Amino acid sequence: MPVLQPAKSTHILDLPGGREVLLNLRRSAKARHILIKINDANGKVELVLPRRAAIRDGLTFANERAGWIEKQLSALPAPVPFQAGTVLQLMGEPLLLARRQGGAKRLRRIGGLLEVPGEDAQFAGHVQCWLVAEARREIGERAESLAARIGRPVHHVAIRDTATRWGSCSAAGNLSFSWRLILAPPRVLNYVVAHEVAHLNEMNHSASFWHLVTELVGDPSCERLWLRRNGSQLKRYGRQDPRLVPQPCSTP
Ligand SMILES: [Zn+2]
Repeated sequence: MPVLQPAKSTHILDLPGGREVLLNLRRSAKARHILIKINDANGKVELVLPRRAAIRDGLTFANERAGWIEKQLSALPAPVPFQAGTVLQLMGEPLLLARRQGGAKRLRRIGGLLEVPGEDAQFAGHVQCWLVAEARREIGERAESLAARIGRPVHHVAIRDTATRWGSCSAAGNLSFSWRLILAPPRVLNYVVAHEVAHLNEMNHSASFWHLVTELVGDPSCERLWLRRNGSQLKRYGRQDPRLVPQPCSTP
């Protein structure tokens, strides 16, 4: 029996132009071939190996495609890291990220200013946690009130960082949304919530489903167009450039 490496491990891959990227290895029972996946939400590069593929073959595969990986990463919208001086659009309103001075432990929002305490290393994490909590509150309230209008209970609302879907609704009536919707205009956020709430009644995209969505939030064509055109922009926030610049050796 061949000994397989642990399912998860990472390797550094050299890219053309002297940069490097972290390659995340993943075993998949479903994969038929070795493949490379690039997550456009966080820029992470994944090397997916079928169950019995040798890691060596996977790495050769990735090396041969280093040029393609570099091209894909360059094509991602420029990241907007969470750091002091960044301006977010929180539900359509500008919000400036700033450092909170003094020994305060909590984030503080004063109008269009969000003051973030703590060390540099924790800044981005604090901002993201705060945004996820805001998303949970805003989306939760909207889901409850829209569901009440069609006489349906909402069992659970989950907030995630989904790569491909803005929202989803399970057969059991659990709703799930991307926290990034909090960075979209409020009309777009309302539409996505209404879309998933309407699935509590209609588990399809039939004419009666769209009729229900329109009853809840009006004709959603502009909001759908906005998501198609600008959705990928929402994925830039909080992302670091996944490419690493090799550090010169400092050993004397
Ligand atoms: Zn749907």
